[in-house]
Amino acid sequence: MKRIYNFSAGPAVLPEEVLQQAADEMLDYKGSGMSVMEMSHRSKNYQAIIDEAEADLRKVLNIPSNYKVLFVQGGGTVQFAMVPMNLSKNRIYDFIMTGHWSKRAKKEAEIFGKVNVIASSEDKNFSYIPNLDNVKATSESDFVCMCDNNTIFGTKYKKYPEFPGKILINDASSSFLSEPMDVTKFGLIFAGAQKNVGPAGVVIVIIREDLLDNEPLPGTPTLLKYKVLADAGSMYNTPPTYGIYICGLVFKWILNHGGLEAMKERNEKKAALLYNYLDNSKIFKGTVEKNSRSLMNVCFTTGNDELNAAFLDGAKNAGFANLKGHRSVGGMRASIYNAMPMAGVEALVAYMREFEAAHSK
Ligand SMILES: *Cc1c(COP(=O)(O)O)cnc(C)c1O
Repeated sequence: MKRIYNFSAGPAVLPEEVLQQAADEMLDYKGSGMSVMEMSHRSKNYQAIIDEAEADLRKVLNIPSNYKVLFVQGGGTVQFAMVPMNLSKNRIYDFIMTGHWSKRAKKEAEIFGKVNVIASSEDKNFSYIPNLDNVKATSESDFVCMCDNNTIFGTKYKKYPEFPGKILINDASSSFLSEPMDVTKFGLIFAGAQKNVGPAGVVIVIIREDLLDNEPLPGTPTLLKYKVLADAGSMYNTPPTYGIYICGLVFKWILNHGGLEAMKERNEKKAALLYNYLDNSKIFKGTVEKNSRSLMNVCFTTGNDELNAAFLDGAKNAGFANLKGHRSVGGMRASIYNAMPMAGVEALVAYMREFEAAHSK
């Protein structure tokens, strides 16, 4: 068996210990004689799995008791619709535009109401997080939407904006559980699992309890109502059972490795290694403003398409996967989520040094 360093933006690398445990439990989960995949979601065994996953997530993220945790299907993309369907009053929504996923979210929200863009970094191809100190929400808006970590452009908020009296919605898909987060700053947080916490097919929603009382828009399907999911403990219908089980193993892995403070420290070390190299390189440069840099998705380029292609070819041969940047940025992107070991980043930087030496006169 050979595992390679996988820098995919998502679905992405998972902790080897978790995969190993899942493999060990594949055919016979704790003496049940069946795989978690084959288990009724109404069984005692499965109820314990989902309860423990939720309890561990609450511990990891220090989630206050007035927030509900939901395991939902449909990815981050369904949340782009569920948020306006469930939290509308005036059908006016404020958006902070920081990349591809905010655009997608805005487009979806426009199905249901009017969107005001209150800040944007599109003027410089989303290479920074706008300064929001003096940005105000619109008075009649139902909520403000932000995207914490911009997976494609490699930017991340270093400080969360404050909009007094407004519900702040955070798409935290690609930064979720990479560092501690103050849940109370937000009315709702969602995160697709496949970036940092599990397999595709699960999206985690953390919602302040009082928001469940808002009447969903007419025509909202039953399964897309937060209240229905909350009242049924995420089991109104069959939930993504196996995915939730893996997320649960990842939450335990985080707890066993020092929690989010330790994740943050490790992630900062990994990112610093890469960014420090980029800052001193003669042929590579980072594409993002320094004070907006993501710890999870590191975007860089040589500024030359042929050199980029040669770098990516060589990277494949050297045993690195998925380093190609998204087409809207070009160049390269190394996604270094929690489960990417320091050794993976060290190996990547060593290859970059070699490449630099071979391609500079
Ligand atoms: C990947 C991603 C999404 C979309 O997730 P899907 O599960 O593919 O719907 C949304 N927001 C962010 C920030 C992402 O990284």
